[in-house]
Amino acid sequence: MIDKRKFYINGEWVNPAKKNDCKVINPSNEEAYAHISLGSKHDVELAIKASKDAFLTWSEVKKETKIELLEKLLKIYKSRWNEITKIMSDEMGAPLDWSSSAQTSSGYDHIRDFIERLKEFKFEKKFKNNSNNYIAYEPIGVCGLITPWNWPINQITLKVIPALASGCTMILKPSEIAPLSGMIFADIIHEAGFPAGVFNLINGDGEGVGTVLASHPDIDMISFTGSTRAGKLISKNASDTIKRVCLELGGKGGNIIFSDSHPEAVRQGVRNIMSNSGQSCDAPTRMLVEKSIYKRAIKDATDEANKIKVDIASKKGDHIGPVVSKKQYDKIIDLIKSGISEGATLLAGGPERPKELEKGYFIKPTIFTDVSNDMRIAKEEIFGPVLSIIPFESEDEAISIVNETLYGLGNYVQTQDKEKAKRVARKFRSGGVYINGNTADPGTPFGGYKQSGNGREGGVWGLEEYLEVKTICGLD
Ligand code: NAD
Repeated sequence: MIDKRKFYINGEWVNPAKKNDCKVINPSNEEAYAHISLGSKHDVELAIKASKDAFLTWSEVKKETKIELLEKLLKIYKSRWNEITKIMSDEMGAPLDWSSSAQTSSGYDHIRDFIERLKEFKFEKKFKNNSNNYIAYEPIGVCGLITPWNWPINQITLKVIPALASGCTMILKPSEIAPLSGMIFADIIHEAGFPAGVFNLINGDGEGVGTVLASHPDIDMISFTGSTRAGKLISKNASDTIKRVCLELGGKGGNIIFSDSHPEAVRQGVRNIMSNSGQSCDAPTRMLVEKSIYKRAIKDATDEANKIKVDIASKKGDHIGPVVSKKQYDKIIDLIKSGISEGATLLAGGPERPKELEKGYFIKPTIFTDVSNDMRIAKEEIFGPVLSIIPFESEDEAISIVNETLYGLGNYVQTQDKEKAKRVARKFRSGGVYINGNTADPGTPFGGYKQSGNGREGGVWGLEEYLEVKTICGLD
């Protein structure tokens, strides 16, 4: 059993105030392989005190010094690449090769991009010619950063790096389900030489540590990525202290496949939703197919889903792993059963576990067709390898089905008609639109409309989330 029961507070690993052990489970074999501690109010108070003290000096540190430290951090991150890859594979079930090429690399890309943005960023600028007004950007203060398990290092770097770059100090609470990659990240920050108290890490659950952070008067900002359910609770708990609350929440992406799309479009859409075993907030979980190609589309989708192999995460190769936990597994199976009982047609996969895998939270790539947008599988975020296919007749109908959801994170469109693609992209009510399989560059903003959240992470937008804006009149 790996012992990871300490917290990183004020530059060192310390024991929790009270013993409260929690097991970390490997979802490929359902076995506990590490212990962490769940923190208490006392631990959070210590970390907040350290952050508050450190803010006095860190907020004044020159940009050049911060860049130097971040460049050191990037180097160390690279040198520990395989360790980060392996730990994420074990804690959340990402197959090794994919854990490296998608999960670990996303963290690297974010760190590198934020360093470039910091180099360019002007923390003070003249408002306009012929004015003596200046606009200053100043760090907001002590931040509570709360992250999920599905892209652990991606989410941590999207928060910690801009917080460091802007001059904030922070307490990170990684997901208690996949906490170990965050602890390696704390070691990397330590080795890079950031001053004590600038970065602190407390493990814990939402009700305990998460609630204390959200409601605490000495926390100036919460940056949260996770479910819409928890985002609402955090907003309520934060409201008495009027702190800034940046939310990156759930999604229910639509993917419109027009009849003139590339012949590979349906297969690409299937692979996209199944990757990370369906556990991505911006996954295209509802595929809308124009009626004239519907028959061919469901044949392609079924064939593609049946080709995707499911296997343990520690194996190398091109397969998908388990879903993260028993809780997620039960929820996904329940939703698959609801699809069957509500009258959708099951074309591939289903609620039975893959025959050759007796242990582990494995779910077969599942395809439903003849889905209507009011079924639970079309409305709720499943967060598993489950695709719902919905037929449509007209462009307007397809757009309105895609937008008819509580969420608005990422939507997709496939057509070889460029004008149509542009038209549709502009009508989607979502923070991201992906035309014909194109992906977002590092440094572009990521976030949602509606109940998918209110923040934007990445690039200069991600940096600005951690900054207050001050107008100074008469500076020259
Ligand atoms: P979750 O909301 O259960 O937990 C996320 C984090 O919040 C964890 O650290 C958890 O301990 C903490 N938490 C839970 N309840 C809390 C509370 N009341 N107060 C404070 N903290 C609390 O989500 P999850 O299951 O870990 O992650 C999956 C969810 O995250 C999905 O809904 C997914 O769409 C979303 N997500 C969104 C984005 C995005 O950028 N929009 C990215 C990744 C994941």
